[in-house]
Amino acid sequence: MLAGCVPWPEEATARYRSKGIWQGITLPEMLERTIAEVPDKVAVIDGEMRLTYAQLGEAVDRLAYAFVRRGLRPLDRAVFQLGNGVDMVVAFLGLIKAGVIPVMALPAHRQSEIGHFLAHAEAVAYLIPDVVRGFDFRAMAEELAPNCASLRHVFVSGTPNAGQHDLRAMIAEPAPADIIRETLAARRPDAGEVALLLLSGGTTAIPKMIPRTHDDYVYNCTQCGKATGFRRDIVYLAVLPMAHNFTLASPGILAAFSVGGTVVVARSPTPEAVFPLIERHRVTMVCTAVPLVTSWLNSSVPAQHDLSSLEVLMNGGAKLVPELRRRVEERFGCRFMESFGTGEGLLCNTRYDDPEEVRFHSAGRPISPEDEIRIVDPYGNEVPDGVPGELLARGPYTIRGYYKAPETNANAFTADGFYRMGDVVKRIDGNLYVEGRMKDQVNRGGEKISCEEVEDHILAHPAVSGACVVAMPDPAYGEKACAFVILRPGHSLDFRGLVDFMAARKIAKFKLPERLEIVDSFPISPAGKILRRELRAVIAAKLAAETAAAPATA
Ligand code: AMP
Repeated sequence: MLAGCVPWPEEATARYRSKGIWQGITLPEMLERTIAEVPDKVAVIDGEMRLTYAQLGEAVDRLAYAFVRRGLRPLDRAVFQLGNGVDMVVAFLGLIKAGVIPVMALPAHRQSEIGHFLAHAEAVAYLIPDVVRGFDFRAMAEELAPNCASLRHVFVSGTPNAGQHDLRAMIAEPAPADIIRETLAARRPDAGEVALLLLSGGTTAIPKMIPRTHDDYVYNCTQCGKATGFRRDIVYLAVLPMAHNFTLASPGILAAFSVGGTVVVARSPTPEAVFPLIERHRVTMVCTAVPLVTSWLNSSVPAQHDLSSLEVLMNGGAKLVPELRRRVEERFGCRFMESFGTGEGLLCNTRYDDPEEVRFHSAGRPISPEDEIRIVDPYGNEVPDGVPGELLARGPYTIRGYYKAPETNANAFTADGFYRMGDVVKRIDGNLYVEGRMKDQVNRGGEKISCEEVEDHILAHPAVSGACVVAMPDPAYGEKACAFVILRPGHSLDFRGLVDFMAARKIAKFKLPERLEIVDSFPISPAGKILRRELRAVIAAKLAAETAAAPATA
């Protein structure tokens, strides 16, 4: 196994294999099964471009071979930052087929995060688009390259700069099919090997990497697909970034490929982009997140389109309140499903046939009978049903450790291999209900912000002597980040000054605080820790008072 990763214990490995939970196939082999069954079915639609399963398979093989010819070797790491589109699908599968491990960065990441990913993974390659909404990823690659000794190749979807590779030209490169087949067969990884590295939502200063094996990820997507009703005639609309676990495999595009369904790519999440696609391609399932659901419900666009094909709208990443779940069903004429899960593994879903009470209020239940769930009190003792406690999870697709992070692993996992989700939940009739969170994180409509990471950036400001970032309530996003700051004597700082300073440090924009509160001191516990809970209460009360005082709008 890739050095720096923690394997499942032998006993668990043997059990998952003997039960057929781990099928011993790689992700590309999962796709090949589908290609053999439905070669002429449309696998991906992106604008006017359509690829059948056979065409997708050929493109993946040609690109994998082109990666091999450029010198990429099995278990090399490649930071992967392509946005939604056919190129993303082909490049992701092409890398994996060549035995290379993609590190799944998000389109929003900037120099600060990407520089860390390149260094931590000792990546030899970096895959990017050319320019998106005015941001030039090629220039970012050129800026980062001198500080990353391992980086040898930059692959660009679009027009590359000098010295960078043209991904589309590589996909089109002619090569004899038998040579491609032989070359790739020689590189077939073991199914127990790491296939990709996801990024953790994060509570630490530096995001952690989540190693997912072929065995566990094939199970993750196929089992999640089963739990959420994926069939061959599914038409899945990919709206959120496909590099995120939710859209990639939970159930996501990989579940669609496992059953021979069709993936429709949305290049933008606006109602103007999404609802015409649903009508035009007779989309049956869309997976989305809290801020998008809110904006779609507030838009007049959906009513102008035929949504009769839509069977399921699934929300994930953060809790959607019951009232909005109900409205989704009423307005869009489909079933609502809630997805509560994590890139580290455990996935829970409400099911299509669940009663309203469960669909509208719960976070659903684990997708697999092999998921082991423990809900514990502060002493590690299991609590009875209906009583909130910390959620621990173990199972065939929940990791046993982060990549190259032994110290973090000692805290993030119990001695017997349960992952500490950091969520407070209660269980009623097998379904989980999310009550709160123990981890220092802001969940901005599904996008996770590590308080510690943002605090480190704020503390670099010369006027700041103390910083504490907490979640504040927000009607559209659920939560946003509020920065409480103590200033050095004689210094001043306003919100604009803080945000400009942080943006200049080249971090993902969604991590920027959305409010600044200057204070003289922080509330401190007897053990000397900042009482974040109290600061959350302070800002929540202040916002409520401001809302109450604001003049009512017509
Ligand atoms: P990530 O691995 O980045 O997707 O983040 C996983 C975390 O997101 C979970 O541990 C929860 O804190 C939060 N989360 C995901 N889905 C939900 C949901 N449906 N309701 C509440 N919290 C959620």
